[in-house]
Amino acid sequence: MRRAVYPGSFDPVTYGHLDIITRASEQFDELIVGVLRNSSKTPLFSVNERVKILKEVTKKLGNVRIESFEGLSVNFVRDCGAKVIVRGLRAITDFEYELQMAQTNRIMAPDIDTMFFVTGLEYAYLSSTTVKEVASFGGDLERFVPPYVLEEIRRKIGEKN
Ligand code: ADP
Repeated sequence: MRRAVYPGSFDPVTYGHLDIITRASEQFDELIVGVLRNSSKTPLFSVNERVKILKEVTKKLGNVRIESFEGLSVNFVRDCGAKVIVRGLRAITDFEYELQMAQTNRIMAPDIDTMFFVTGLEYAYLSSTTVKEVASFGGDLERFVPPYVLEEIRRKIGEKN
């Protein structure tokens, strides 16, 4: 079975992430989306909430599984029985960081490769950080995230205020 892992924060998942998830799921028998529990960042949504949201918005994709993980991506990828890490590339600004990560991962785990999916042009500007910023000022999020995610962001921001 050809299995890949798409690791990230997904705080929250955007149409850009969903584009990558959909396209990667067509290239592999199974795609596992790994939601990183990152203690150095203060996320808007907890890991469990992010997993719940991702499950909801990917429920129509039969070969996509959502899991949370801690620690090194390569260890999680091995535990999943996968050999490929999927990442998305939006712009040159992503490239330097992503290249460094991919090379570091190759040193640590030569049996695992990183595959990059180039973002759809319509999502090239989109990031979870921008979404959160627009949300905090009450801006319109319809073009950035699916309706379910929009509801969850509204609820979360309501809880915080
Ligand atoms: P991380 O904290 O690991 O950067 P993110 O959730 O921000 O996690 O992103 C996970 C992956 O998805 C990264 O490879 C990132 O480049 C990619 N990505 C994020 N936004 C988009 C987008 N709009 N289009 C394509 N890829 C994206």
